[in-house]
Amino acid sequence: MEKKNVLIVYAHQSSGSFNAAAKDVAVEVLKASGCTVDVSDLYAINFKATATVEDITVGVKDPDCFCYAEETKLAWERNELSSDITKEQCKLKKADLVIFQFPMYWFSVPAIMKGWIDRVLTLGFAFSPEKCYGEGFFKDKMAMLSFTTGSHQSMFSANAINGDMNITLWPLQNGILHYCGFKVLAPEIFWAPAHVSRSECSTMLNHWRIRLGSLMSEKPLVFPPLDYFEKETGFQLKPEIIEKFATKEYGLAVGVHQGKKVPLNNQMRWINCFCEPTRHPGPEDAARSEKTMTAKKPQATSYDRAAPPDAPELSGQEAATVPHTHTRESPKEPRTQCTPPPTPTPNPKVPCMGVAVVCGPGVGTAPKTTKR
Ligand SMILES: Cc1cc2nc3c(=O)[nH]c(=O)nc-3n(C[C@H](O)[C@H](O)[C@H](O)COP(=O)(O)OP(=O)(O)OC[C@H]3O[C@@H](n4cnc5c(N)ncnc54)[C@H](O)[C@@H]3O)c2cc1C
Repeated sequence: MEKKNVLIVYAHQSSGSFNAAAKDVAVEVLKASGCTVDVSDLYAINFKATATVEDITVGVKDPDCFCYAEETKLAWERNELSSDITKEQCKLKKADLVIFQFPMYWFSVPAIMKGWIDRVLTLGFAFSPEKCYGEGFFKDKMAMLSFTTGSHQSMFSANAINGDMNITLWPLQNGILHYCGFKVLAPEIFWAPAHVSRSECSTMLNHWRIRLGSLMSEKPLVFPPLDYFEKETGFQLKPEIIEKFATKEYGLAVGVHQGKKVPLNNQMRWINCFCEPTRHPGPEDAARSEKTMTAKKPQATSYDRAAPPDAPELSGQEAATVPHTHTRESPKEPRTQCTPPPTPTPNPKVPCMGVAVVCGPGVGTAPKTTKR
């Protein structure tokens, strides 16, 4: 594997958890293959989850009408963001691949990880209205979700109680990762580790171990390219694109489905959605998907769905939408300074804001089906 810098953003409270084991496997395999691996262990560093005025070390521009995005952009430009944010931005800046390792909480990431996303991916550093999606600042980086669920795989399908996992993944993978420009690798989903036997847990970890060996050469998921949309009409699909795909049975992506069928496994594995009908997800995908989803005990892991490095090449515009190399251009140099900013001094003009902790029960757990 090519030697790269990897950042693992990790959110679990316990070093004895399955998530910890998945994180440890990643560190071990990636280091053994020569990668540099940084881990941001969010609970261990007690990472602040709330986006507040305290994230800016010097006075804010408009304390009476505080706007987090604008103020943090200004603070980033002046190297006045709090040191915990700056540290993470420095790690992110040098990373070629970011792995988010977490237990699914409420169909999403745990609050502490959402806090990392809210606070580290600041306007100007991670995105701007002009530089987003395929043109995003991080277009030379890869990112992926690696997570555990309480639910079995069978509960997260188009015919099941939790609905299609592809739809659950769309906000995270499209709205956050792809929005910032990342090439998004297929997720690694560890289904219900707490409800299967220890040996099934070990099998899942082994699949992860194998996948990690060739992760860097995987093809990323495919999203509709920016030039399919027209700025003047509020980023609607261009009429010629609608016409081009008019006869297709499936929409372009989970979100951009044009009122048609949602393309199968669009957020779970590399599928070229913009290809000719013969290469569109077809009955074989449906059969495969159905077989997997209805399996009594989930056996498949997302390793099976990851695009192999030797997946067929595309041509023309299709190829342009699915980059195969990860050469780093020099995008506009972000202004994050990798030296610690000055010690924060409280701003007398800014009222101190409290942090409320809301506790709630877990959801979506399935009854144990297998005794350990
Ligand atoms: C607030 C909250 C919200 C939630 N929302 C959702 C939701 O929306 N949807 C959903 O599906 N679930 C949800 N859950 C459930 C949650 O996703 C699962 O509890 C979590 O994913 C389990 O992962 P874990 O790492 O904590 O597992 P653990 O309980 O730590 O581990 C499970 C098993 O892994 C095995 N294991 C650990 N280490 C190893 C090792 N080294 N080798 C082999 N086996 C090992 C052990 O046998 C252990 O029993 C929620 C939970 C909470 C608390």
